[in-house]
Amino acid sequence: MAKTTSTPIATSKPSKLAKKPASKSAAASKKNITKVEEVVEEEAQVVVAPKVKSEISDDKSEITIEKKLIALYSLQQVDSQVDKIRIIRGELPLEVQDLEDEIAGLETRVDNYIQETLAMEKSITDKKNAERDALALIKKYEDQQMNVRNNREYDSLTKEIEYQNLEIQLSEKRIKEYQIGLELKRTEIDTFQKLLQDRKNDLEIKRNELDDIIAETEKEELDLIKNSEENRQYIEDRLLTAYTRIRKNARNGLAVVQIERDACGGCFNKIPPQHQLDIRMHKKIIVCEYCGRILVDDGIVNAVHL
Ligand SMILES: [Zn+2]
Repeated sequence: MAKTTSTPIATSKPSKLAKKPASKSAAASKKNITKVEEVVEEEAQVVVAPKVKSEISDDKSEITIEKKLIALYSLQQVDSQVDKIRIIRGELPLEVQDLEDEIAGLETRVDNYIQETLAMEKSITDKKNAERDALALIKKYEDQQMNVRNNREYDSLTKEIEYQNLEIQLSEKRIKEYQIGLELKRTEIDTFQKLLQDRKNDLEIKRNELDDIIAETEKEELDLIKNSEENRQYIEDRLLTAYTRIRKNARNGLAVVQIERDACGGCFNKIPPQHQLDIRMHKKIIVCEYCGRILVDDGIVNAVHL
């Protein structure tokens, strides 16, 4: 394994450490102290052009801090773009999934209601058959009453007829109940079927939207991920780990921020003038003492956006 010299990470907190240049990296960045602007421009091109890959040494400590800062800021820009794409797309598959679940639920409910109406229709038919049978029996008993031999037989048949009449009344009552239930169910089925159709239309729209976004952003996302990987080659593992950690914990996934109006672009706390100077020197990786984000000046930002 190649011997690595770690890049010094300083906080913007006033301290002797921040003022004193780290001896090993000072040698590496000495050549960049003069004409910083030119160096930044030149290196910005190096960072974005993949053709210089072969020039990258295994020992990433040989890469100047300035170049690392540019790579870090580029990486942040690219990763933020990927975040944006994923946020836009991220909600749509969930919305589509929710709609699919809701539709499946509605379909099951409508199916159950249809089964219930079929059962009620069958019950009504059964009761109507019972009524018809009872009427037939009444007719039979009335005929028999014409040929009775005594009052006892006659009364017995009268009781049977009364009983069958009660049966008919009961059936009538049940049929009415079933018919009311049936009407309610049918209204509910209508309501849910309309809702189901609405949801199906929504799903169609969302699915098309999702397909369009995937088609639109797939290539862009792949290009960005490739660009991100290229930038990562300029950054040593220890810094990348820090970057990833800060990004994960930071709101909006920002690990590298610009100084804006003398303040940290991430948490907006003021940065002491001495540390702003240190940040502008591009000799150290300096993090915000409040939020821990890596700070860069407009020199680095302009180098990336050229
Ligand atoms: Zn901050």
